[in-house]
Amino acid sequence: MCIFCKIVNGEIPSNKVLENEEFMAFHDISPKAPIHVLIIPKQHIENFQSTPSEIMAKMTPFIQEVAKTLSLDKTGYRLIVNNGEDGGQEVMHLHFHILGGTKLLWPYLAPEKEAKKYV
Ligand code: 5GP
Ligand code: ZN
Repeated sequence: MCIFCKIVNGEIPSNKVLENEEFMAFHDISPKAPIHVLIIPKQHIENFQSTPSEIMAKMTPFIQEVAKTLSLDKTGYRLIVNNGEDGGQEVMHLHFHILGGTKLLWPYLAPEKEAKKYV
């Protein structure tokens, strides 16, 4: 069972923000911004690429509700999904990162040796 499935069933503790029957939001253990929360379906789905549109249709309003709960809806936030190897996905259970609480930077994300191509 993957670590996020263990968070869903309570085997691994988490600092929960919001939950309903199908989705859960909890604080990232290693935050990259003042507010950094992970939003997941309770059902194990490996990644964004394999996510059925019906799940996304229900996940969208849940994510918006999480943004409101965190008071990020007015100030703004960033949503990130890392998909697969090049995307840097480490946990193979679909999750959206919602980041905010400050004006976020938009750094070069490609390795330094490639970054100048995109200037
Ligand atoms: P990924 O790189 O797969 O997009 O992101 C995985 C995220 O899960 C990382 O930001 C990491 O800090 C977070 N994470 C990994 N293990 C745990 C855990 O046990 N609890 C919580 N709350 N977050 C975790
Ligand atoms: Zn899982």
